[in-house]
Amino acid sequence: MLALRKVAPRPGVAIENVDAPEMPSRGEVLVQVAAVGICGTDLHIDDWADGFHAMASALPVTLGHEFCGRVHAVGEGVTAFKAGDRVVVQPAIGCGKCAPCQAGARHDCLNRSAIGMHRAGGFAKYVSAPADYCIAMPPGMSDLHGALVEPLTTGAQAVKIGEVKEGDRVTVFGPGPIGQGAAAMARLAGAAEVHVVGYRDGPRFATLRKMGFDSFTDLADDDGEATLRKVARGGFDVAIDASGAPSVINTGLSVLKPYGVFVIASMPDHEAPLDVMLLVRGRTQLRGCSRAPDWAWADAIEALSKNPALFAPMVTHELALEEGLEGFRLMRSREASKVILRPNAS
Ligand SMILES: [Zn+2]
Ligand SMILES: [Zn+2]
Repeated sequence: MLALRKVAPRPGVAIENVDAPEMPSRGEVLVQVAAVGICGTDLHIDDWADGFHAMASALPVTLGHEFCGRVHAVGEGVTAFKAGDRVVVQPAIGCGKCAPCQAGARHDCLNRSAIGMHRAGGFAKYVSAPADYCIAMPPGMSDLHGALVEPLTTGAQAVKIGEVKEGDRVTVFGPGPIGQGAAAMARLAGAAEVHVVGYRDGPRFATLRKMGFDSFTDLADDDGEATLRKVARGGFDVAIDASGAPSVINTGLSVLKPYGVFVIASMPDHEAPLDVMLLVRGRTQLRGCSRAPDWAWADAIEALSKNPALFAPMVTHELALEEGLEGFRLMRSREASKVILRPNAS
Protein backbone atom coordinates (compact mmCIF):
# COMPACT_ATOMS: atom_id res chain seq x y z
CA MET A 1 0.00 0.00 0.00
CA LEU A 2 1.07 3.62 -0.45
CA ALA A 3 2.12 5.56 2.64
CA LEU A 4 3.27 9.13 3.18
CA ARG A 5 6.37 8.80 5.32
CA LYS A 6 9.24 10.48 7.04
CA VAL A 7 12.11 8.46 5.69
CA ALA A 8 15.33 10.03 6.95
CA PRO A 9 16.43 12.51 9.66
CA ARG A 10 16.62 15.49 7.33
CA PRO A 11 14.03 17.76 5.66
CA GLY A 12 11.49 16.04 3.42
CA VAL A 13 8.72 13.46 3.30
CA ALA A 14 7.99 10.85 0.63
CA ILE A 15 5.15 8.70 -0.65
CA GLU A 16 6.37 5.11 -0.80
CA ASN A 17 5.10 1.58 -1.13
CA VAL A 18 5.06 -0.31 2.17
CA ASP A 19 3.64 -3.64 3.32
CA ALA A 20 0.08 -3.37 4.63
CA PRO A 21 -0.09 -4.32 8.32
CA GLU A 22 -0.99 -7.96 9.02
CA MET A 23 -3.55 -8.99 11.62
CA PRO A 24 -3.49 -6.57 14.55
CA SER A 25 -1.60 -7.69 17.64
CA ARG A 26 -3.16 -8.27 21.05
CA GLY A 27 -5.25 -5.32 22.24
CA GLU A 28 -5.03 -3.55 18.89
CA VAL A 29 -7.42 -2.94 16.02
CA LEU A 30 -6.62 -2.57 12.33
CA VAL A 31 -8.31 0.59 11.05
CA GLN A 32 -9.10 1.21 7.40
CA VAL A 33 -8.45 4.96 7.23
CA ALA A 34 -11.39 6.97 5.88
CA ALA A 35 -10.08 10.52 6.35
CA VAL A 36 -6.83 11.93 7.72
CA GLY A 37 -5.90 15.57 8.21
CA ILE A 38 -2.56 17.23 7.52
CA CYS A 39 -1.46 19.09 10.66
CA GLY A 40 1.03 21.88 11.33
CA THR A 41 3.01 19.26 13.25
CA ASP A 42 3.39 17.25 10.03
CA LEU A 43 4.90 20.34 8.39
CA HIS A 44 7.39 20.71 11.27
CA ILE A 45 8.31 17.03 10.86
CA ASP A 46 8.69 17.58 7.12
CA ASP A 47 11.04 20.52 7.90
CA TRP A 48 12.86 18.34 10.46
CA ALA A 49 12.46 21.09 13.08
CA ASP A 50 14.53 20.79 16.27
CA GLY A 51 11.65 19.69 18.49
CA PHE A 52 11.13 16.48 16.49
CA HIS A 53 14.60 14.95 16.40
CA ALA A 54 13.55 12.42 19.06
CA MET A 55 11.64 10.71 16.24
CA ALA A 56 14.92 9.75 14.55
CA SER A 57 15.04 6.25 16.04
CA ALA A 58 11.54 5.49 14.70
CA LEU A 59 12.37 6.33 11.07
CA PRO A 60 11.24 5.47 8.50
CA VAL A 61 7.71 6.01 9.82
CA THR A 62 4.31 6.68 8.25
CA LEU A 63 2.96 10.08 9.38
CA GLY A 64 -0.66 11.11 10.00
CA HIS A 65 -2.22 11.48 13.47
CA GLU A 66 -5.61 13.13 12.79
CA PHE A 67 -7.77 10.34 11.45
CA CYS A 68 -10.87 8.23 11.61
CA GLY A 69 -11.87 5.06 9.83
CA ARG A 70 -13.55 1.68 9.98
CA VAL A 71 -12.35 -1.22 12.09
CA HIS A 72 -11.15 -3.85 9.62
CA ALA A 73 -9.99 -6.52 12.07
CA VAL A 74 -9.52 -6.81 15.82
CA GLY A 75 -6.65 -8.42 17.70
CA GLU A 76 -6.86 -10.92 20.51
CA GLY A 77 -8.54 -9.62 23.65
CA VAL A 78 -10.41 -6.76 21.97
CA THR A 79 -14.08 -6.82 22.94
CA ALA A 80 -15.08 -3.14 22.69
CA PHE A 81 -14.99 -3.04 18.88
CA LYS A 82 -15.83 -5.29 15.95
CA ALA A 83 -15.18 -5.14 12.22
CA GLY A 84 -17.17 -2.34 10.59
CA ASP A 85 -17.30 -0.04 13.63
CA ARG A 86 -16.38 3.57 12.85
CA VAL A 87 -13.76 5.05 15.17
CA VAL A 88 -11.61 8.10 15.76
CA VAL A 89 -8.17 7.35 17.16
CA GLN A 90 -6.34 9.21 19.92
CA PRO A 91 -2.76 9.32 18.67
CA ALA A 92 -0.85 9.90 21.94
CA ILE A 93 -0.24 6.51 23.56
CA GLY A 94 0.64 6.29 27.25
CA CYS A 95 3.22 3.81 28.57
CA GLY A 96 0.78 2.48 31.17
CA LYS A 97 3.55 2.32 33.77
CA CYS A 98 4.57 5.83 34.84
CA ALA A 99 2.93 7.68 37.75
CA PRO A 100 0.50 9.77 35.62
CA CYS A 101 -0.55 6.66 33.62
CA GLN A 102 -1.07 4.73 36.87
CA ALA A 103 -3.15 7.62 38.19
CA GLY A 104 -5.42 7.50 35.14
CA ALA A 105 -3.97 10.61 33.46
CA ARG A 106 -2.49 8.90 30.42
CA HIS A 107 -2.43 12.21 28.51
CA ASP A 108 0.24 13.31 31.02
CA CYS A 109 2.36 10.17 30.43
CA LEU A 110 6.08 10.75 30.95
CA ASN A 111 7.07 8.30 28.19
CA ARG A 112 4.30 8.69 25.68
CA SER A 113 4.63 7.81 22.02
CA ALA A 114 2.49 8.98 19.16
CA ILE A 115 0.80 7.25 16.26
CA GLY A 116 2.06 9.03 13.16
CA MET A 117 5.37 10.00 14.80
CA HIS A 118 6.89 7.12 16.74
CA ARG A 119 4.78 4.36 15.19
CA ALA A 120 2.94 4.06 11.86
CA GLY A 121 0.20 6.64 11.33
CA GLY A 122 -2.84 7.28 9.19
CA PHE A 123 -1.34 8.50 5.90
CA ALA A 124 -1.98 5.00 4.46
CA LYS A 125 -4.92 2.71 3.73
CA TYR A 126 -4.51 0.81 6.99
CA VAL A 127 -3.11 1.59 10.41
CA SER A 128 -2.98 -0.41 13.61
CA ALA A 129 -4.01 1.29 16.88
CA PRO A 130 -4.59 0.20 20.48
CA ALA A 131 -8.31 -0.42 21.05
CA ASP A 132 -8.03 1.57 24.30
CA TYR A 133 -7.28 4.67 22.22
CA CYS A 134 -10.20 4.25 19.80
CA ILE A 135 -13.46 6.12 20.35
CA ALA A 136 -16.69 5.08 18.60
CA MET A 137 -17.91 7.79 16.23
CA PRO A 138 -21.46 8.97 16.89
CA PRO A 139 -23.90 7.74 14.23
CA GLY A 140 -24.28 10.35 11.54
CA MET A 141 -20.85 11.94 12.01
CA SER A 142 -19.17 12.25 8.61
CA ASP A 143 -15.65 10.99 7.97
CA LEU A 144 -14.47 14.56 7.33
CA HIS A 145 -15.78 15.61 10.74
CA GLY A 146 -14.18 12.51 12.25
CA ALA A 147 -10.80 13.75 11.02
CA LEU A 148 -11.47 17.15 12.63
CA VAL A 149 -11.87 15.69 16.13
CA GLU A 150 -8.15 15.59 16.98
CA PRO A 151 -7.38 19.18 15.92
CA LEU A 152 -10.56 20.41 17.65
CA THR A 153 -9.49 18.93 21.00
CA THR A 154 -7.00 21.81 21.39
CA GLY A 155 -9.71 24.46 21.02
CA ALA A 156 -12.02 22.49 23.31
CA GLN A 157 -9.31 22.32 25.96
CA ALA A 158 -8.30 25.99 25.54
CA VAL A 159 -11.86 27.26 25.97
CA LYS A 160 -12.26 25.26 29.21
CA ILE A 161 -8.84 26.31 30.53
CA GLY A 162 -9.75 29.93 29.74
CA GLU A 163 -13.12 29.44 31.47
CA VAL A 164 -14.97 31.10 28.60
CA LYS A 165 -18.54 31.75 29.70
CA GLU A 166 -21.82 33.24 28.50
CA GLY A 167 -21.39 36.83 27.34
CA ASP A 168 -17.57 36.86 27.30
CA ARG A 169 -15.53 38.85 24.81
CA VAL A 170 -12.92 36.48 23.37
CA THR A 171 -10.03 37.03 20.98
CA VAL A 172 -8.17 34.24 19.19
CA PHE A 173 -4.67 34.73 17.76
CA GLY A 174 -3.97 32.53 14.74
CA PRO A 175 -6.79 31.85 12.25
CA GLY A 176 -5.56 28.39 11.17
CA PRO A 177 -7.50 25.20 11.94
CA ILE A 178 -6.60 25.25 15.65
CA GLY A 179 -7.70 28.88 15.98
CA GLN A 180 -10.83 28.21 13.91
CA GLY A 181 -11.69 25.38 16.28
CA ALA A 182 -11.03 27.57 19.34
CA ALA A 183 -13.23 30.34 17.91
CA ALA A 184 -16.06 27.87 17.28
CA MET A 185 -15.76 26.30 20.74
CA ALA A 186 -15.75 29.79 22.33
CA ARG A 187 -18.95 30.63 20.51
CA LEU A 188 -20.55 27.33 21.59
CA ALA A 189 -19.51 28.17 25.18
CA GLY A 190 -21.60 31.33 24.91
CA ALA A 191 -19.05 34.02 24.03
CA ALA A 192 -20.88 37.18 22.97
CA GLU A 193 -18.03 38.25 20.71
CA VAL A 194 -15.17 36.35 19.07
CA HIS A 195 -12.48 38.44 17.37
CA VAL A 196 -9.80 36.61 15.37
CA VAL A 197 -6.32 38.02 14.75
CA GLY A 198 -4.03 36.85 11.95
CA TYR A 199 -1.04 37.85 9.87
CA ARG A 200 -1.51 37.84 6.07
CA ASP A 201 -4.32 35.35 6.53
CA GLY A 202 -6.90 36.25 3.88
CA PRO A 203 -7.84 32.66 2.91
CA ARG A 204 -8.20 31.55 6.53
CA PHE A 205 -10.34 34.58 7.39
CA ALA A 206 -12.51 33.57 4.42
CA THR A 207 -13.02 30.16 6.05
CA LEU A 208 -13.96 31.85 9.34
CA ARG A 209 -16.42 34.05 7.48
CA LYS A 210 -18.11 30.90 6.13
CA MET A 211 -18.27 29.65 9.72
CA GLY A 212 -20.20 32.80 10.62
CA PHE A 213 -17.45 34.96 12.15
CA ASP A 214 -17.12 38.56 11.00
CA SER A 215 -14.64 40.32 13.27
CA PHE A 216 -10.97 40.11 12.26
CA THR A 217 -7.69 42.00 12.49
CA ASP A 218 -4.79 41.32 10.15
CA LEU A 219 -1.66 42.48 11.99
CA ALA A 220 0.16 42.70 8.64
CA ASP A 221 -2.01 45.73 7.80
CA ASP A 222 -0.35 49.13 8.43
CA ASP A 223 -2.86 50.00 11.13
CA GLY A 224 -3.24 46.41 12.39
CA GLU A 225 -2.21 46.96 16.02
CA ALA A 226 -4.25 50.18 16.23
CA THR A 227 -7.30 48.43 14.81
CA LEU A 228 -6.96 45.63 17.34
CA ARG A 229 -6.74 48.12 20.21
CA LYS A 230 -9.82 49.92 18.93
CA VAL A 231 -11.77 46.66 18.74
CA ALA A 232 -10.54 45.66 22.20
CA ARG A 233 -11.90 48.88 23.81
CA GLY A 234 -12.24 47.94 27.50
CA GLY A 235 -10.45 44.66 26.86
CA PHE A 236 -11.24 41.01 26.18
CA ASP A 237 -12.15 38.59 28.94
CA VAL A 238 -10.17 35.76 27.38
CA ALA A 239 -7.46 35.55 24.72
CA ILE A 240 -6.39 32.25 23.14
CA ASP A 241 -3.14 31.92 21.23
CA ALA A 242 -3.12 29.42 18.37
CA SER A 243 -0.57 31.28 16.27
CA GLY A 244 2.79 29.80 17.21
CA ALA A 245 4.13 33.37 16.94
CA PRO A 246 5.95 34.38 20.16
CA SER A 247 5.44 38.09 19.47
CA VAL A 248 1.69 37.86 20.10
CA ILE A 249 2.12 37.17 23.81
CA ASN A 250 2.63 40.81 24.75
CA THR A 251 0.03 41.97 22.22
CA GLY A 252 -2.48 39.55 23.72
CA LEU A 253 -1.76 40.63 27.28
CA SER A 254 -2.18 44.28 26.28
CA VAL A 255 -5.74 43.79 24.95
CA LEU A 256 -7.09 41.86 27.96
CA LYS A 257 -9.35 43.29 30.64
CA PRO A 258 -7.93 43.48 34.15
CA TYR A 259 -7.99 39.92 35.53
CA GLY A 260 -8.33 38.57 31.98
CA VAL A 261 -6.96 35.16 31.04
CA PHE A 262 -4.55 34.41 28.18
CA VAL A 263 -4.40 30.74 27.17
CA ILE A 264 -1.34 29.74 25.15
CA ALA A 265 -2.35 26.75 23.04
CA SER A 266 0.42 26.78 20.43
CA MET A 267 4.12 25.98 20.54
CA PRO A 268 6.26 28.97 19.56
CA ASP A 269 9.29 27.91 17.54
CA HIS A 270 11.63 30.17 19.52
CA GLU A 271 11.72 31.85 22.92
CA ALA A 272 8.95 34.35 23.51
CA PRO A 273 9.65 37.74 25.14
CA LEU A 274 7.27 38.46 28.01
CA ASP A 275 6.54 41.99 29.27
CA VAL A 276 6.07 41.06 32.91
CA MET A 277 4.79 44.55 33.80
CA LEU A 278 1.83 44.04 31.46
CA LEU A 279 0.98 40.87 33.33
CA VAL A 280 1.42 42.40 36.79
CA ARG A 281 -0.35 45.69 36.08
CA GLY A 282 -3.20 43.91 34.36
CA ARG A 283 -3.51 41.31 37.14
CA THR A 284 -3.86 38.95 34.18
CA GLN A 285 -3.20 35.23 34.04
CA LEU A 286 -1.18 33.28 31.51
CA ARG A 287 -2.20 29.61 31.22
CA GLY A 288 -0.65 26.82 29.16
CA CYS A 289 -2.68 24.34 27.14
CA SER A 290 -1.45 21.13 25.50
CA ARG A 291 -1.96 17.33 25.57
CA ALA A 292 -5.74 17.24 25.40
CA PRO A 293 -7.22 14.99 28.10
CA ASP A 294 -10.11 12.61 27.44
CA TRP A 295 -12.71 15.23 28.44
CA ALA A 296 -11.51 17.51 25.62
CA TRP A 297 -12.02 14.62 23.16
CA ALA A 298 -15.55 14.17 24.47
CA ASP A 299 -16.22 17.92 24.14
CA ALA A 300 -14.84 17.99 20.58
CA ILE A 301 -16.89 14.98 19.47
CA GLU A 302 -20.07 16.41 20.97
CA ALA A 303 -19.50 19.83 19.37
CA LEU A 304 -18.83 18.32 15.93
CA SER A 305 -21.77 15.95 16.01
CA LYS A 306 -24.25 18.59 17.23
CA ASN A 307 -23.01 21.42 14.98
CA PRO A 308 -21.74 19.86 11.74
CA ALA A 309 -22.50 22.95 9.63
CA LEU A 310 -20.45 25.23 11.88
CA PHE A 311 -17.30 23.16 11.35
CA ALA A 312 -17.79 22.03 7.73
CA PRO A 313 -16.06 25.07 6.13
CA MET A 314 -12.80 24.20 7.94
CA VAL A 315 -12.15 21.45 5.39
CA THR A 316 -11.08 23.43 2.33
CA HIS A 317 -9.38 20.61 0.43
CA GLU A 318 -10.02 16.88 0.08
CA LEU A 319 -7.28 15.00 -1.76
CA ALA A 320 -6.27 11.43 -2.52
CA LEU A 321 -3.27 10.07 -0.62
CA GLU A 322 -1.29 10.20 -3.88
CA GLU A 323 -1.74 13.99 -3.79
CA GLY A 324 -0.37 14.22 -0.25
CA LEU A 325 2.66 16.35 -1.13
CA GLU A 326 0.38 18.89 -2.81
CA GLY A 327 -1.65 18.83 0.42
CA PHE A 328 1.49 19.70 2.40
CA ARG A 329 2.13 22.60 0.02
CA LEU A 330 -1.43 23.92 0.43
CA MET A 331 -1.11 23.81 4.24
CA ARG A 332 2.31 25.43 4.20
CA SER A 333 1.20 28.30 1.97
CA ARG A 334 -1.83 28.81 4.28
CA GLU A 335 -4.09 28.79 1.21
CA ALA A 336 -5.84 25.87 2.86
CA SER A 337 -7.50 25.73 6.23
CA LYS A 338 -7.62 21.95 6.74
CA VAL A 339 -6.48 19.54 4.03
CA ILE A 340 -7.96 16.06 4.39
CA LEU A 341 -6.47 13.05 2.60
CA ARG A 342 -8.67 10.09 1.63
CA PRO A 343 -6.42 7.01 1.48
CA ASN A 344 -9.25 4.65 0.52
CA ALA A 345 -11.02 6.93 -1.94
CA SER A 346 -9.68 5.20 -5.04
ZN1 LIG B 1 -2.09 17.57 14.86
ZN1 LIG C 1 3.02 6.64 31.10
